[in-house]
Amino acid sequence: MAMYDELVWKRRSVWETLSEDEKSKVMEFADEYRKFLSTHKTEREVVEFAVEQAKSAGFNEIQDGGDKLIIVNRNKAVAVVKLGRKPVREGVRIVAAHIDVPRIDVKQNPLYEDNQSATALFDLHYYGGIKKYQWVARPLAIHGVVVKTDGRVVKINIGDNPDDPVFTIEDLLPHLAHKAQYGKKIDDAVPGEKLDLIVASIPIPENENVKERIKLNVLKLLNDRFGIAEEDFMSAELEVVPAGPARDVGLDSSMIGGYGHDDRICAYTALRAVIEAGEPEWTAVALLFDKEEIGSDGNTGAQSRFAEHVIAQLLDVQNDLDYRNLMTALQKSQAISADVTAAVDPMWKEVHDLKNAAVLGHGLPIMKYTGRGGKYSANDAHAEFVAEIRRIFNENGVIWQPAGLGKVDEGGGGTVAKFLAKYGMDVIDAGPALLSMHSPFEIASKADLWMAYKAYKAFFESK
Ligand code: MN
Ligand code: MN
Repeated sequence: MAMYDELVWKRRSVWETLSEDEKSKVMEFADEYRKFLSTHKTEREVVEFAVEQAKSAGFNEIQDGGDKLIIVNRNKAVAVVKLGRKPVREGVRIVAAHIDVPRIDVKQNPLYEDNQSATALFDLHYYGGIKKYQWVARPLAIHGVVVKTDGRVVKINIGDNPDDPVFTIEDLLPHLAHKAQYGKKIDDAVPGEKLDLIVASIPIPENENVKERIKLNVLKLLNDRFGIAEEDFMSAELEVVPAGPARDVGLDSSMIGGYGHDDRICAYTALRAVIEAGEPEWTAVALLFDKEEIGSDGNTGAQSRFAEHVIAQLLDVQNDLDYRNLMTALQKSQAISADVTAAVDPMWKEVHDLKNAAVLGHGLPIMKYTGRGGKYSANDAHAEFVAEIRRIFNENGVIWQPAGLGKVDEGGGGTVAKFLAKYGMDVIDAGPALLSMHSPFEIASKADLWMAYKAYKAFFESK
């Protein structure tokens, strides 16, 4: 038995290792996270939350100085930084997550009236990897901004307040779906251009000679409430997201179901970790990116030079900014790419290599590499770095498990890891495992949520 315990690695259920005291901390932390998840559904809303939380913990915008700093990039990406005892030029510790989520965006010229069905609709364009059939026949909310030509930003948030109406994308009744849908491939059964949002059905009473009176009524309602006209849609970013709060799942309330765990579960835990980390040896950086779901492109994504710019600004705060220090700091940094992975799916086990797949509630998955096929597009963390991460987690009571996204040749995916690795830093993927990833109702374990927080905090606090 002693030899068995010494030699054999065992995947452990977090629930079976927690003390009663820690279990109540898990549940309390999960309640706070669930509230956050219920109300912050766009990248802009998460940036606002991060800035608010950091400021109330004594962090300042970078231009205001201090050793606890916030750097915002166009309200869609943000770095929250606690300067360490070592100078930044010796490298920093980064936990990077993304705050964009697959969704359906409102097009630039979206509003139209359909005469035959007597409805007004918004034309939509999906963002990221959604299964389109999951988005029809369910309550949806609109979150976003409309920017007026005078620079005024009008915030829109309809469908998540219990008194609000919601919106919906309708689906064809089964009675008439035989030819139109049943014979088709699942992805073609609900084509992208049929994902349009029903927004109204009452025509405006006056203006009898106006052709599209339902459309005009929508514009009047929007104008009364938000002061906007149709042209303002051109400079709007409106995201259609599942309406309603995240919920506890299971008789034991061990899980949270909701929209956007990927990757707000990591963004939230990284943010809490940097705010709550004790005076760190190394500068701690929670780095929250936009656009991961569409390839990390754009100037708020991880392929922009935002990470580099953050380090440059930190060096500048320490009067240490030159090209060599910048490159050295990046090269010597270490990063956790905090992004979710797949949990063993009870209904579709055949896609997993069960020995190397993450199990819900069994701790923080560590993914040495991501990618697809022959490890294409992977960041493959070096064994030396994996060992260091393993040491930090073991020394701090973090339950972790190895993870891979699926069987070899089954599919695959990437994270921001490879874009950070370009700078020369060591990067490893570690984030909770989910069921129903990218769906409107993703499932995470409260135990894994807690272990992610513990892990990121331990990483920030480690020597
Ligand atoms: Mn992700
Ligand atoms: Mn994703």
